[in-house]
Order: sequence, then structure tokens, then C-alpha cells
Amino acid sequence: MKRRVAIMGATGTVGQRFIQLLEDHPWFEVSVLTASERSAGKRYREACRWRLEMEMPEEVSDMTVVNTNLKSIESAGDVDFVFSALPGRIAGPIEEEVASEYPVISKASAHRLDEDIPLIIPEVNPEQLELIPVQRRKRGWRGFISTDPNCSTIQLAITLKPLMRFGLRKVIVSTMQALSGAGYPGVASLDIIDNVIPYISGEEEKLERETRKILGTLKGGRVQPADITISASCNRVNVKDGHLEVVFVELEEKPSIEEIKEAFRNFSGEPQRLKLPTAPERPIVVREEIDRPQPRYDRDEYGGMSVVVGRIREDPVMTVKYLCLGHNTIRGAAGAGVLSAELMAARGII
Ligand code: NAP
Repeated sequence: MKRRVAIMGATGTVGQRFIQLLEDHPWFEVSVLTASERSAGKRYREACRWRLEMEMPEEVSDMTVVNTNLKSIESAGDVDFVFSALPGRIAGPIEEEVASEYPVISKASAHRLDEDIPLIIPEVNPEQLELIPVQRRKRGWRGFISTDPNCSTIQLAITLKPLMRFGLRKVIVSTMQALSGAGYPGVASLDIIDNVIPYISGEEEKLERETRKILGTLKGGRVQPADITISASCNRVNVKDGHLEVVFVELEEKPSIEEIKEAFRNFSGEPQRLKLPTAPERPIVVREEIDRPQPRYDRDEYGGMSVVVGRIREDPVMTVKYLCLGHNTIRGAAGAGVLSAELMAARGII
């Protein structure tokens, strides 16, 4: 029997990706869709401005969208767990209410830095799932909240993890982030055509704080953030999907460029060992061409679940520099949520 899923924020950019990735999923099936009051009561096909190249799956097009609260979800159908793709500004209290009954796997920022809430990348820090029983005891919930990082953070943290063995000390990252990262309708066309916007509200703080929690150490039921200094500068660029990041790292050791490439290429984790349905064979793909990765050509690697790295070279100020690219609404959003859920299902947590 497949586990039944509710998607909160199902009509949005990330919600649509969840629906795409859950079509014909071997373990999960969509049973409830929620959105704002504007959409509640409508058929999904009427409520949603479908923005993906594929056709809207038939099994959701006729479903009735319900309001986003515990009562509406409970009365709409049988649910085993919930994905949240709600805007960060409203997600906090709604996720808490729903988590009193159901496991909530969230793409929103509201709870990512809470002490008792996991911030998971399945290949990087699955041990943070151990916070779930701590959280349940503390909050008295039947369900729980587990969060996935911000889209630009996920791809950065995946590339930093294999470098930790060389003694990771400092990171400088400058991002070129796609328009779909701002949701729909997102950035006004007249602001972004022929332009780059050198500011994304809250993004730099998320990259800096979340990365330290993800790479931190779990001790005595809490995460000690990694002792790494991170400086981020974020830009919005005129690209549809795929965040490109320029990364400079300072390491204690001086590995050769070939050793760094090998560390990237050989990196894998529990999702690969367990052969989870959405796990990419290689979480990091290394490109050797001088002008890759590029969003248009590289964002769909392994269905958008791999991070593509290139231009790996020595840096005269830090130790090494490279670029990384990730599909922000797949590896950075819905794909991350689905992979986290698969890991939890494999471990018997949901
Ligand atoms: P979006 O396109 O703006 O979609 C927002 C969704 O939330 C829609 O379904 C919307 O329903 C619903 N919603 C809005 N206000 C609501 C309210 N007051 N009550 C209940 N539902 C409400 O946003 P998105 O890009 O999908 O982002 C969703 C979340 O994922 C955000 O927290 C975002 O930061 C995070 N995230 C996004 C990305 C990305 O690449 N886009 C990546 C990582 C994380 P209606 O259609 O009815 O308005």
C-alpha cells in the first residue's frame, strides 16, 4: 500500500513540482491538496496556473483544493504525512498545528533553525532525524516537523560535505539565482529583463546559518553548528530554473585538484546505499569542460537531483574555487522533500 500524502501550497511553483515528482511514485500517492482561501473549493485545474512542460497529471486535475489547516486536511481524505510548500511568512503556525497530528516535511524557512527540528539533506546529515523523538517528547505531538534547506543552501552544502575531510575553514559564495526561486509570479518582468538584481531578501543569512547547522554535529539531542565561517552574496538573474554558485573555500590541508575532484565524484550517502527511488546515482557530477556547468544544459542531470560542479581550480587567496549548479525547484525544493520522505519511509519513521 502506498503512503498517502497531502501537499500544502499545492498550486505554487514548488507544489507543482511535488505533483510532478509524485506522479507514479512507487511508495507515495497524492491524496489531499491545499492552498489559500482564493483556491479552496476549486478543482485543482481551475485553481492552478500550471507552469510545467509536462501535462498536469489526470489524477490531480479533478481533485478539489481545500483550505490549509488541520481540520480541512483531516476531513479531505486519508493522509499519512504532509509536504509543506507554503510561503515562509505563514508556514510557522500552520505547520505546528498540522504536526500535532501528522509528520510534516517542510520546504519553508519558518522552522529550519529551531533547536529540536531536523534540517536534512539525506546524503549529508541523515543523523539529524534523531531529533524527531526529542521534538515529539518536548512538544507532545503525534506528528513532527522535519525541514529541508533553502534551495541555494542545498547545493552548496552537498559540495562542502566531501571537502570537510580536508579541514574546511572558510567559504565565500556568490550566487546567480533563477527566477523560479522567487515563486509565481515572482520578480516583475520589467525588473529582470536586461538586468541582474544584486539582492534577494533573507537569502544570504539563510545560506550562512543553514549551512552551519547542516554540517554541524549532533550531540545530546541538539546540533552544534559547524565551526566554519561563511560569507554569501546573492543575485537574481534572468534564468528560468537552476541556481549557479561561485564558491571559494579555504582548507587546512592542501589537496591536489585531482584529489578534490575524486572527493566530489566519490561522494554518496544513505539514499544511494538504500537505492531510494529519487536518489541520483551520483549526488555530485564533475564536468571537465572549461565553460560548464551552465543552467540550461546541466540543471536536469539525473532528473534535476544531481549537483553539477565544474571549473575546479586552485585559488591564490583561499585554497580552491569552483562553480556548482543545482535545479532549484527539484534538488533545491520538491525533489529534496521527496528524497527526505523516502529516507524516512525506509527507516520506518513515516
Ligand atoms: P509560490 O509559487 O508563491 O506558492 C505558494 C503556495 O502557497 C501556493 O499554493 C499558494 O496558494 C499558497 N499560499 C499562499 N498564501 C497562502 C495562505 N495565506 N494560506 C494558505 N496557502 C497559501 O511559492 P513557491 O516558490 O512554491 O515556494 C513555496 C515555499 O518553498 C516557500 O516557503 C519558499 O521559500 C520555498 N522554496 C521555494 C523554492 C523555489 O525554488 N521556488 C526553493 C526552495 C524553497 P494560492 O495559489 O491559492 O495563492
